[in-house]
Amino acid sequence: MFDGCDGARKVLVVEDNEANLKLLKKILEHGGFDVLEARNGVEGVVIAGEGMPDLILMDVQMPEMDGITAMKTIKSNIPALKDTPVIAITAYAMKGDRERLISEGFSDYISKPVRVDEILRKVNAHLNTN
Ligand code: MN
Repeated sequence: MFDGCDGARKVLVVEDNEANLKLLKKILEHGGFDVLEARNGVEGVVIAGEGMPDLILMDVQMPEMDGITAMKTIKSNIPALKDTPVIAITAYAMKGDRERLISEGFSDYISKPVRVDEILRKVNAHLNTN
């Protein structure tokens, strides 16, 4: 059965900041990815289930449902996404944050302001090991 895959990997960006969402979408599309977008954690869970992304970029601080809860909800409620890499994006970059976010279940961590090379390097790295 043809599954509709044209080779482009699908990345879901969950981010409540419109400017940052647009920037991430542009970076990823430039990198050859198909991009799905969501503007809060609740929407992120719904769109993850509908779109079955290969990887998720998840802002940590969001209204409705924060990124940690959204990531855990996706992994526990959508069996097919249990092992899908989810990279946290956060505005605060304190020592220990990376370890804390990874212990919560994130695959990696990117701090704002986001950088093109870092985004593409980390997204590609996590897709290639999955
Ligand atoms: Mn936010």
